Amino acid sequence: MLKDLFLNVTTIIAVVSIGNQILINQDITPSSPLKLRVFFGSMAGLLGILLMLNSVEVMPGIILDFRNIATILSAVYCGFASALITGLIIAVFRLFFYGLTYSSVVSAMAAIVIGIGCAFITKCKAGTLKKWIIMSLFVLVTPSISMAMIINDLALLIRSISIYWTGISLVSVLLYLYVRYLDLSRFLYRKYQIDSAKDHRTGLNNVRQFDNELNKIIRNIAEDSLIALLFMDIDFFKKINDTYGHQNGDKILEDLGKILLSACSHSDIVSRNGGDEFSVLMTDCPGDKVLEVAERIRVKVQDHSFYLIDGQVINITVSIGIAVYPDTVNDINLIVEKADLALYEAKRAGRNRVYLSESKP
Ligand code: GH3
Ligand code: MG
Repeated sequence: MLKDLFLNVTTIIAVVSIGNQILINQDITPSSPLKLRVFFGSMAGLLGILLMLNSVEVMPGIILDFRNIATILSAVYCGFASALITGLIIAVFRLFFYGLTYSSVVSAMAAIVIGIGCAFITKCKAGTLKKWIIMSLFVLVTPSISMAMIINDLALLIRSISIYWTGISLVSVLLYLYVRYLDLSRFLYRKYQIDSAKDHRTGLNNVRQFDNELNKIIRNIAEDSLIALLFMDIDFFKKINDTYGHQNGDKILEDLGKILLSACSHSDIVSRNGGDEFSVLMTDCPGDKVLEVAERIRVKVQDHSFYLIDGQVINITVSIGIAVYPDTVNDINLIVEKADLALYEAKRAGRNRVYLSESKP
């Protein structure tokens, strides 16, 4: 019997681990989209079914397993509706798979009661651990009542309940620790994903992400694609650092990131490519509007009052170089080089200006 119960535990661990891998990039919470919560509730229901299929029959019609742990998982992660769905799936399977008997009706009722109970427990104002403990207690008590309704032999009843309580308590603690560990590793994985794509100072894309986005655009390029790349660099930024200090320089970089975001549309890919150099990749800007956008950015920066840490206000300017595929560069692989050259020209021509790269080579 212990061997079979152990099989139940490994089933839970395996399914939870696979589920974690599948949903690693999803936010699984009670406020996730309904579709995701229904999916999670259904998957937890299937886990309940798997656990039932590996259950231990302590006497004809008396089945012991950890199916209700699936309802706890469903409730804790996805809330009310999800818990109800899981409870219902377990109940329906219990009722029809093992035949319509008195014990299956009572067990199915218990699964529904647990579904409803866990659903309501999710509504309490309590932390995850507290909710988990309350649900575990509920999952201990409810099936014990149903066992009492089914098992007439007192010795067998006590034996079944004590096995059930010991098993559920152990699995509940083990699973709680395991899912918290998975939560932490999922959080760290996603933080790593964000950190590896974002510039920590401005929150914009970093140069690695810029390269990824550009490569994606190059891979999906179509005949009628129009791609514009703006390279922007702060004028005399070294002098600003030297005059006002590195910390003020950092603050200016942060503010400039915000200005850039506010001046661009949502579809633009705004990055800090390093140091005082920024870029904007545009894939849906009409060719004749690109210059307008760049000029708007330049004027916005020029007119902006940059507040330093001590409250002092300064102004800065930027130079912008632009390359547009296919208007000024006919090989998309040269767009970075062309935009960089245009930026150099903007600097050479006196700074605080926009320079469009020369027409096709
Ligand atoms: P130019 O007009 O030719 O661009 O002159 P510049 O002084 O801005 O020259 P350049 O762009 O080559 O200098 C970049 C400077 O940006 C050098 C470095 O001191 C500064 N810088 C780079 N990264 C950071 C940063 O993270 N924080 C701060 N405060 N300064 C940075
Ligand atoms: Mg500079």
